[in-house]
Amino acid sequence: MEPLAIHGGAPVRTEFLPYGHQWIDEQDIASVVEVLKSDWITQGAKVEEFENRMADYCGAKYAVAVSSGTAALHAACAVAGISRGDEAITTPITFAATANAIMYCGGKPVFADIKEDTLNIDPEEIRKKLSPRTRAILPVDFAGHPADLDEIRVIAEENKLIVIEDACHAIGAEYKKKGTGSLADMTVFSFHPVKHITTGEGGMIVTDNKGFYENLKTFRHHGIVKHSSREGSWHYEIDSLGYNLRITDFQCALGLSQMNKLDSFIRRRREIASGYNEAFAEVKEIIIPVEKDYVRSSYHIYVIQLRTGMLTVGRKEVLEAMRAENIGVNVHYMPLHLHPFYQRELGYNKGDYPRAERYYDRAITLPIFPKMSDHDVDDVIKAIKKVTLNYRS
Ligand SMILES: *Cc1c(COP(=O)(O)O)cnc(C)c1O
Repeated sequence: MEPLAIHGGAPVRTEFLPYGHQWIDEQDIASVVEVLKSDWITQGAKVEEFENRMADYCGAKYAVAVSSGTAALHAACAVAGISRGDEAITTPITFAATANAIMYCGGKPVFADIKEDTLNIDPEEIRKKLSPRTRAILPVDFAGHPADLDEIRVIAEENKLIVIEDACHAIGAEYKKKGTGSLADMTVFSFHPVKHITTGEGGMIVTDNKGFYENLKTFRHHGIVKHSSREGSWHYEIDSLGYNLRITDFQCALGLSQMNKLDSFIRRRREIASGYNEAFAEVKEIIIPVEKDYVRSSYHIYVIQLRTGMLTVGRKEVLEAMRAENIGVNVHYMPLHLHPFYQRELGYNKGDYPRAERYYDRAITLPIFPKMSDHDVDDVIKAIKKVTLNYRS
């Protein structure tokens, strides 16, 4: 048995492989430069072009581009009417921004535990958390696998709630033959560099609801509304409290150029995932991610779970051993209710969400991004086999 790098052996590879990385090519660079040389570097035509392109891609009527995925969630929560004293239900297994967006509006994030197979929010758990103050449900399409949107929409209709789908992991994913962006009242995407396509920082809200669309645009731009009025053509009025959540035109030019590659990016991610699935079928210490037959995941991340009972060590040691082999493994995510902030502010405690906690104790995210070569993929597989073999009980 080859000794682990963490014990002084030779690492599987010499160069560190990150878990995610952007793909920027000459075309992307040329599109950005073109806008930088033009008259409008912000609030110009590229923003709307990017929005239209995204609405088309999703089969939705409207899209609003903003400065980040977090800003998109904030705007969506605001126009959904979440305000002081309201509750919104979301999963504890998500990035902090999902819960924080609810809090920006004065609302309380109420967590509902996950399903053990897809790791998405469990509709049965959502039902248990409903209260007269519930206004919205924010499912997260974890790792790129859409949540149970049919069941969630039924709960929302029965209780007059708004569904804001956090699809920051799941652009281009499909649920029962329909794409993300056509499954909820509002769907949110992020264009951070680790996501499928990037604008550096950036985000988008997609919706079929004209009222939401108009309010999102107002919220993005200080609450300003323009009326042709007796004051003259320069005139505008502040009609509500808004922010500056705008994105620049050169970022949108990058987004448009990235959109040309989105389908090929997703194909490559799915190819890497199926390579992993095949290789790990024989590694009995790990559980591979579930993909339901009515879903096409877009694999923002590839998360395995360790059968820790079959290993002499826990997740922490396996993660450190993988990093020593120069494989950039990660953890997505520490359940939100375990963070001091949500415990202090909202009264959550360890033990509140047992399935999320059990998942967290066993989860490891492996590298997956379109620029990865087949050789990189083989290195990850080699390292996983090496580490699990060394720690086999
Ligand atoms: C990335 C991400 C966000 C936030 O997006 P930013 O563009 O980084 O602000 C929100 N929710 C989830 C699930 C994410 O993965």
